[in-house]
Amino acid sequence: MIMNKVLVVVVVGIALLGLVAGCATNEGTKAKPAKVQPAQAAPTEQKPKIEYVDTPSGRWMVHDENRPAPPVITPGTFSSTRRVGQAPSDAIVLFDGTEGSMKNWTDTKGQPSKWVVGEGYMESVKGAGYIQTKESFGSCQLHVEFATPEKVQGTSQGRGNSGVFLQGEFEIQVLDSYENKTYPDGQCSALYGRSVPLVNACRKPGEWQSYDIVFHRAHFGKDGKIVTKPTFTVLQNGVLVQDHVTLEGGTQWNGPHAISPFRAIPDKGPIQLQDHGNPVRYRNIWIRPLQD
Ligand code: MG
Repeated sequence: MIMNKVLVVVVVGIALLGLVAGCATNEGTKAKPAKVQPAQAAPTEQKPKIEYVDTPSGRWMVHDENRPAPPVITPGTFSSTRRVGQAPSDAIVLFDGTEGSMKNWTDTKGQPSKWVVGEGYMESVKGAGYIQTKESFGSCQLHVEFATPEKVQGTSQGRGNSGVFLQGEFEIQVLDSYENKTYPDGQCSALYGRSVPLVNACRKPGEWQSYDIVFHRAHFGKDGKIVTKPTFTVLQNGVLVQDHVTLEGGTQWNGPHAISPFRAIPDKGPIQLQDHGNPVRYRNIWIRPLQD
């Protein structure tokens, strides 16, 4: 039964390749992993690579919309007198809602970012590219608050898409996943293409949400091979969504049903926020570097 389903999805997936590729994540300023071309390129189009993942619910393609989505829950709310998520005294405040704290950020070329600052938040601007911290970080605790657009536009990956990148490389997806079907390994708080969140703890579009992330960085040897894989623990709106998950490779977009391998990166990299063409807002971002 599952194999029949998979075959159907493969055929449909190939037919829809052109459509899907246009709204996938990680386009824009990020360099894509180099693809090895055969010495004599075939004149016909190459079929997209299809990779599978074995899970307790069966075998699924990467980015498979038919894969069971995690249960939807409603996160608790906080009263106005209970301030949660404020930076502790030993944190480095990366963005406090003011224009002044934009001095901590640049575009990916080290130039001032074209993202705009509103009342207490910064907002991505289509075509401006990723925004990133001037300072580089490895293992860390990171607090980020975000809001996808109140006005709902688009579907699936085209709705409130952004992302938080650790070590300048590994993406925790930001997406409007409130009543918005997409492939579960690419929904909000997924480690993109790699790890489905335990639950869907999303608030409604336009409402402020939080990520609290504990990240232990990837280590690469001098030969460029992975020595220690990175790990993620993530809470979304105070709810555990990634429980000390070890990444088994990269999180870059690599076609409709494939994921990218590790690529060697420095021990430290910037915190990056993704411009994926949707106006997503961020506020109250702080970090505490951790021992590896
Ligand atoms: Mg994204």
